[in-house]
Amino acid sequence: MREAGKIVAEVLQEMGNSVKVGITTAMLNKIAEKIIRSHKAEPAFLGYHNFPASICTSVNSEVVHGIPGLRRLEEGDIISIDVGVRVKGYHGDAAATFAVGSVSREAQNLIDVTRISLQKAVEAMQEGNRLSDVSYAVQRYVESNALSIVRSYVGHGIGEDMHEEPQVPNFGQPGRGPVLKPGIVLAIEPMVNIGSWEVKVLKDQWTVVTADGSLSAHFEHTVALGDNGPVILTSPN
Ligand code: MG
Repeated sequence: MREAGKIVAEVLQEMGNSVKVGITTAMLNKIAEKIIRSHKAEPAFLGYHNFPASICTSVNSEVVHGIPGLRRLEEGDIISIDVGVRVKGYHGDAAATFAVGSVSREAQNLIDVTRISLQKAVEAMQEGNRLSDVSYAVQRYVESNALSIVRSYVGHGIGEDMHEEPQVPNFGQPGRGPVLKPGIVLAIEPMVNIGSWEVKVLKDQWTVVTADGSLSAHFEHTVALGDNGPVILTSPN
């Protein structure tokens, strides 16, 4: 899983270098797939429930599961890119939101709060804590910054399958659910909206957008709980 995570991290780093005004989301997909295959790994999203691409690209009010295509990124856009990799039978899964050129102060704040909410979740993933302590850490941070956390899509366990038990909601009361023990691996993935938390799915059956058209950001890491605390497997370092 470390190996899968490193490849995911490399792809996301390259996505950060590649995101710029004028590039299409299909071009980003091509770059990502090339890196994944160069490691003799497979893009885990490609063909998953018939998803047609190797990464998800979700622009502005798109929350998750956007399909790469001919859309060209414009100055001031934000784009969330989600990457899943399978290698030697194990998975890594991570996402990040990038600014295209210079973005509004609101958009940058959304990106920053979402990224930090993931850090808060990782810090809560400690032996002896309960699963919902992770969920609560995200919700508390996001809502204390007057943003809203998406309810209908959640993080997940990950390993030999990309999506395993347990589900990892980004909201909820603390102190509930299973006690966390070393060995558990979770894909934690807050999705945060500027407006309301409600979302809907477009006619393409994939793209999830905010119901009110407000901007949305998404960060994700695959995190293992080790004997000395959480280890981010999809970290570049
Ligand atoms: Mg995921």
